[in-house]
Amino acid sequence: MSEITVQVPEGEQKQFAGDATVADAIAELLSNKQRKQTVAAGVGDDLVDLSVRLDSLGLETVELRPVTISSDEGLDILRHSTAHLMAKAVLDLYGPDLKVAIGPSIEDGFYYDFDRETPFTPEDFEAIEAKMLETVRGGISFERNVVSKADAIELFEKKGEQYKVELLKEIEADTVSLYQLGDFVDLCRGPHVPNSSWLQVYKLIKVAGAYWRGDERNPMLQRLYGTAFADKKKLKKYLNALEEAKKRDHRKLGKELGLFTISDQVGPGLILWQPKGALLRKLIEDYWKDEHYKNDYELLYTPHIAKLDLWKTSGHLDFYSENMYSSMAIDNVQYQLKPMNCPFHIAIYKSQMRSYREFPIRWCELGTVYRYERTGVLHGLMRVRGFTQDDAHIFCRPDQLEDEIFNILDLNLNILETFGFDQYDVYLSTRPEKYVGSEEHWQKSTDALKQALEKRGLEYQVDPGEGVFYGPKIDIKIKDVLGRSWQCSTIQVDFNLPERFEVSYIGEDGKEHQPIMIHRALMGSLERFIGVLIENYAGAFPLWLAPVQARIMNITDAQSDYCEKVYQELRQSGVRIEKDLRNEKLNYKIREAQLAKIPYMLVIGDREVESDTVTVRERSGKNLPPMSVEDFATKIKDECKVVLG
Ligand SMILES: [Zn+2]
Ligand SMILES: [Zn+2]
Repeated sequence: MSEITVQVPEGEQKQFAGDATVADAIAELLSNKQRKQTVAAGVGDDLVDLSVRLDSLGLETVELRPVTISSDEGLDILRHSTAHLMAKAVLDLYGPDLKVAIGPSIEDGFYYDFDRETPFTPEDFEAIEAKMLETVRGGISFERNVVSKADAIELFEKKGEQYKVELLKEIEADTVSLYQLGDFVDLCRGPHVPNSSWLQVYKLIKVAGAYWRGDERNPMLQRLYGTAFADKKKLKKYLNALEEAKKRDHRKLGKELGLFTISDQVGPGLILWQPKGALLRKLIEDYWKDEHYKNDYELLYTPHIAKLDLWKTSGHLDFYSENMYSSMAIDNVQYQLKPMNCPFHIAIYKSQMRSYREFPIRWCELGTVYRYERTGVLHGLMRVRGFTQDDAHIFCRPDQLEDEIFNILDLNLNILETFGFDQYDVYLSTRPEKYVGSEEHWQKSTDALKQALEKRGLEYQVDPGEGVFYGPKIDIKIKDVLGRSWQCSTIQVDFNLPERFEVSYIGEDGKEHQPIMIHRALMGSLERFIGVLIENYAGAFPLWLAPVQARIMNITDAQSDYCEKVYQELRQSGVRIEKDLRNEKLNYKIREAQLAKIPYMLVIGDREVESDTVTVRERSGKNLPPMSVEDFATKIKDECKVVLG
């Protein structure tokens, strides 16, 4: 038998017999401490089990990259293996009437889909976790077997596992790998941890409905979510963050604070803004419009529908139709609800001859668009069917591109900072395999984006080939107080639409040229951005954003008239104020105002009436000395000015 040379990074080479395993090689090549941390190995672009025989890799020299349990890859393997562990426990407890579907690792853990008539309950979670622990204590190996596809189909048919059979029938290869954990066999590519004793730290999180393969026409399965970590501390930290996120859930807070509602009668994914939410939105929109005005943008308004032909010219019917709703006939002509605002802005551009002297043209619109999303993925304000983009299109000459991108970035980051977001990840996506426009255009534009990013002093990651087919782009993900990332801003150069719509301008040379078009949205969608704001602030908005800045309350009926007078005065001076003149105990009123997360409470007793003042109580519970109504109004204005300038 020929020997195989194995090497680990920064280690020496050693010879091994062909029937030796990866684990054997690692035992020789790594220190004891390293070996104990190693959960799998990388060979080229593949990950393999430690139990794999060296000769099965088909290489004379194997460069092994140890994958440690604390690495991202290791964590992924750990979580994926825990999904098997959970499925085994579920089958042990509730089989054989239950069918298993699929169980991948996901960003924060893993899930497994089960077809079972009885819904899983929180009590089941405990039983499942306990059953998992039995297997963990047993130290059972994950055993890999490569079998023919036909044999695998027969095996799963015998078990009545129709979902596995369906998956197998779609696999093109002749052989497949099965993994066995005790008596639980699963179709899987692997790799896994060597044995179940690695899977000590896990927790079941929740259960949710999920259609088989995400298709509403298929059976509804139960998706059990769980998470796993390499150590207990990390699990604890994660569970705490989860608890905090639950408290901040924008759907829960949106309801409690009277911000928005969704009605079955109106339709899923369609947001109804309640008065306080509408006011919050108005504040955001006003601020946004003011900032754009200051930055030399002009505001546009465009309709919600357009002739179907417009979307043929724009290419959306060819490339975007799955996100669009059906068309409607008006006077025998087909019209379409808009999924984007761009073609309307182009129509305005084309309403007259344009000259290089007008450039750059910066047009912005809070444009409401409608896009199809499956019912199953709709989620509060975060995934909806109708939303308002804070859209803008810039038309400029190629030599103005870099400055324009810089200006957009600057405005973008200033706006995000005002909302309290100063942590973000920036991505630059370059030319994909399929693209329109010349290579020269791509190169120049990509360079312009890079230079603008560097000039603004932004660190960024390059996503090679991840640009849209019509041009390179910059994406910005903001981080909220819990450290979660949210995709918000996008800045895209477009070589496609100007071409399709024959957009042109008269240059200095008196000839026609094609302008560069930039699409950009800073907040992305108002709906989603407000969802993020609610969760970021846990509903306790900063003063300038709070739909209600103050609530005035009397101690007894004797102060009602005075409260009315103060209420009117403050409203006239622009303070967003509410009144609570109910015949209730003061403590009760204070408690309610706190729950409503109102920044200031104005408490009025006889003393305040006599001295013509208000006593101000902060959201935190701190009391300020009595002040005149005018001073309070000035205080509110000054505090907002600090943020808004
Ligand atoms: Zn697996
Ligand atoms: Zn656009």
